Amino acid sequence: MKNAQCTRCTRRFHEKDIYTIQQLQYRKEPNYEWSKKFLETIIGEWDSLCEECVKHYSDISRKAWQKENR
Ligand SMILES: [Zn+2]
Repeated sequence: MKNAQCTRCTRRFHEKDIYTIQQLQYRKEPNYEWSKKFLETIIGEWDSLCEECVKHYSDISRKAWQKENR
Protein backbone atom coordinates (compact mmCIF):
# COMPACT_ATOMS: atom_id res chain seq x y z
CA MET A 1 0.00 0.00 0.00
CA LYS A 2 1.56 3.26 -1.12
CA ASN A 3 -0.60 6.23 -0.40
CA ALA A 4 1.66 9.13 0.46
CA GLN A 5 3.88 11.21 -1.77
CA CYS A 6 6.96 13.11 -0.75
CA THR A 7 6.69 16.84 -1.41
CA ARG A 8 10.35 17.11 -2.33
CA CYS A 9 11.30 14.01 -4.33
CA THR A 10 7.73 12.99 -5.31
CA ARG A 11 8.51 9.40 -4.39
CA ARG A 12 5.51 7.41 -3.20
CA PHE A 13 5.68 5.62 0.10
CA HIS A 14 3.57 4.22 2.89
CA GLU A 15 1.49 6.67 4.82
CA LYS A 16 2.87 5.41 8.12
CA ASP A 17 6.36 6.58 7.07
CA ILE A 18 5.46 10.23 6.55
CA TYR A 19 7.72 12.80 8.12
CA THR A 20 7.19 16.53 8.39
CA ILE A 21 9.60 19.22 9.45
CA GLN A 22 7.82 19.02 12.81
CA GLN A 23 10.32 16.23 13.38
CA LEU A 24 12.96 18.96 13.80
CA GLN A 25 11.43 20.21 17.01
CA TYR A 26 13.24 17.42 18.84
CA ARG A 27 16.69 18.76 18.17
CA LYS A 28 18.31 21.29 20.41
CA GLU A 29 20.10 23.45 17.89
CA PRO A 30 18.93 25.21 15.91
CA ASN A 31 15.65 25.40 17.77
CA TYR A 32 12.42 24.65 15.98
CA GLU A 33 11.26 28.23 15.55
CA TRP A 34 14.51 29.07 13.78
CA SER A 35 14.37 25.95 11.60
CA LYS A 36 10.77 26.53 10.63
CA LYS A 37 11.45 30.13 9.69
CA PHE A 38 14.48 29.14 7.66
CA LEU A 39 12.59 26.42 5.80
CA GLU A 40 9.26 28.15 5.34
CA THR A 41 10.14 29.58 1.93
CA ILE A 42 10.94 26.04 0.73
CA ILE A 43 8.48 23.88 2.59
CA GLY A 44 5.42 24.08 4.82
CA GLU A 45 5.26 22.84 8.36
CA TRP A 46 2.90 19.98 7.51
CA ASP A 47 4.16 18.92 4.09
CA SER A 48 4.71 15.18 3.72
CA LEU A 49 8.31 14.08 3.39
CA CYS A 50 10.10 10.77 3.14
CA GLU A 51 12.84 10.00 5.63
CA GLU A 52 15.65 11.00 3.25
CA CYS A 53 14.12 14.37 2.50
CA VAL A 54 13.46 15.30 6.10
CA LYS A 55 17.16 14.52 6.68
CA HIS A 56 18.03 16.79 3.79
CA TYR A 57 16.10 19.70 5.30
CA SER A 58 17.54 18.94 8.69
CA ASP A 59 21.06 19.14 7.23
CA ILE A 60 20.65 22.34 5.23
CA SER A 61 19.01 24.13 8.13
CA ARG A 62 21.69 23.01 10.57
CA LYS A 63 24.46 24.10 8.20
CA ALA A 64 22.87 27.50 7.66
CA TRP A 65 22.50 27.94 11.41
CA GLN A 66 26.14 26.99 11.99
CA LYS A 67 27.24 29.54 9.41
CA GLU A 68 25.25 32.26 11.15
CA ASN A 69 26.48 31.34 14.60
CA ARG A 70 30.12 30.66 14.03
ZN1 LIG B 1 11.54 12.54 -0.45
